Amino acid sequence: MKGNEFVPGAHYFVGGNTKFYGAALVRLRKQDFGELRHYGGISPAWPLTYEDLEPYYTKAEYLYQVHGVRGEDPTEPPASKPYRFPPVSHELRIQQLSDDLKNLGHKPFHLPIGVLLDEQNPHKSKCIRCSACDGFPCLVHAKADAHVICVEPALEHPNVTLLTKSKVTRLETDSSGRVVTKVHVDHDGMPETSRDDSTKFPLGKIFV
Ligand SMILES: Cc1cc2nc3c(=O)[nH]c(=O)nc-3n(C[C@H](O)[C@H](O)[C@H](O)COP(=O)(O)OP(=O)(O)OC[C@H]3O[C@@H](n4cnc5c(N)ncnc54)[C@H](O)[C@@H]3O)c2cc1C
Repeated sequence: MKGNEFVPGAHYFVGGNTKFYGAALVRLRKQDFGELRHYGGISPAWPLTYEDLEPYYTKAEYLYQVHGVRGEDPTEPPASKPYRFPPVSHELRIQQLSDDLKNLGHKPFHLPIGVLLDEQNPHKSKCIRCSACDGFPCLVHAKADAHVICVEPALEHPNVTLLTKSKVTRLETDSSGRVVTKVHVDHDGMPETSRDDSTKFPLGKIFV
């Protein structure tokens, strides 16, 4: 670091870091859930298996409009359904590279990508395949990020409001420990508390 300030590469926007992500939505491999020995140490086994999560991967891929093709990636784990949309076509140079690698006996594959892209009907496609995707918020709302896919649709419900510049500092629960009854928030520098019986500041808010 040579005394320079550390820049963590985290960004802040409604939708979290998905607002900036490259939308390459690759599943973990089956073996990632077990104990894995790395050069730097051992990654312990998860309490869940790949099979436990598989139905949720399938639902999330559907929701996030992932474009891809099963069976092309020789390392992919089993999936219960095909992708909802065909893979994003390669740029010309990448297609040439892919062809060359195939001719050499390798198995290049299309990355599964979450975008609102319709290559068959480009005039209807939200995604315009610009060069500002990975690392940028999509200005035409065509990247499948948490803001576009989850927050905006949630805001259509009358009991959901969005509170920006807000940091949750503490959650209080009932005696079961399973139900949040109070949310303590630092809202633009001012402490506030929500209660489930409050109409001014009800639970059912999204904090970012
Ligand atoms: C440039 C870039 C490219 C990436 N590309 C890819 C990719 O192609 N594919 C991929 O799978 N991943 C990619 N990632 C990683 C991916 O974005 C993250 O793994 C993912 O966003 C994590 O989701 P999350 O919901 O766990 O956390 P986050 O996206 O960080 O969301 C957490 C949210 O909670 C908010 N928050 C946190 N604490 C509080 C609090 N106390 N009160 C209120 N709000 C709070 C944060 O502000 C944020 O909005 C990329 C990341 C970056 C930065």
